[in-house]
Amino acid sequence: MKIKTDSFRVRPVGKVDLDKIPTRGQPFFDSKHAYRKCLRDHLKQMALLQRLLYASDRYSLLLIFQAMDAAGKDGAIRHVMSGINPQGCQVFSFKEPSSEELDHDFLWRTNCRLPERGRIGIFNRSYYEEVLVVRVHPEILKGQNLPDGLGDAKDVWKGRFRSITEMEAHLHRNGTRVVKFFLHLSKEEQRKRFLDRIKESDKNWKFSLADVHERKYWDAYMKAYAECISATSTADAPWYIIPADDKHDARLAISQIILETLDGLKMAYPKADEARRKELAAIRKNLEGEKR
Ligand code: ATP
Ligand code: MG
Repeated sequence: MKIKTDSFRVRPVGKVDLDKIPTRGQPFFDSKHAYRKCLRDHLKQMALLQRLLYASDRYSLLLIFQAMDAAGKDGAIRHVMSGINPQGCQVFSFKEPSSEELDHDFLWRTNCRLPERGRIGIFNRSYYEEVLVVRVHPEILKGQNLPDGLGDAKDVWKGRFRSITEMEAHLHRNGTRVVKFFLHLSKEEQRKRFLDRIKESDKNWKFSLADVHERKYWDAYMKAYAECISATSTADAPWYIIPADDKHDARLAISQIILETLDGLKMAYPKADEARRKELAAIRKNLEGEKR
């Protein structure tokens, strides 16, 4: 079965209404066996495409993961990583900025960590936090030492959306493909996952008090996410809203989208020119003629 990913992709025009978008879709498979088979198949294809990305050395891929706590970002990233060569991939997690990071513009810390040509970069949270958590908690913005007026300006978010879309367009023009995933979790499923983290002792480490604190701002987060996704989903740097109440289906949808993005690049292994072919033939002759 081929997973249809188009319905998850946010069109560049129009407003996103997260209340109307399901957090659980029709299950892709009715058996664990079929699920595992699909998973293996995705990982195999991903490994081949990553090799090609690396060898052709033209493009890079930036995967951005944003979500509420316990939506499954970590699991999805682990899953994607299990299919690729760690040498061609880097994962960065962005938490509260340091004072050095705050002394730069809000795109600086993530720009320093963009993937090089031939590589895959994964951002676990990203510059999008600057229009999400910072918007939900305006006191964070006040602490950012912005020039007079900027931090209070009503259009500060509009300005940030513009900075983000222009930066992503610039990346696209220069060979970086940006794909953004919002793992769309229901508030009830988050409650269940938090309870599991408390009940099961080997999951206790995953639970933090800050998570329940942020849960109180759920509606404000959903509003901020909806506006952010509506304002920053472009043809070249699309958002995908992934129903996340089912972790397995979410991972399959994500890997299918990554496969399609890589496949769409129409990459090819570099071909040896005449001079190189001659050089290789001479080396081969020497190696074959070596005394054993
Ligand atoms: P996990 O809980 O799975 O370890 P996480 O991404 O939730 O992963 P935490 O250490 O729990 O990691 O939380 C990081 C926190 O940092 C989040 O609450 C996030 O909103 C916050 N954060 C990230 N970027 C910024 C930013 N630019 N400004 C302020 N807070 C930020
Ligand atoms: Mg957390």
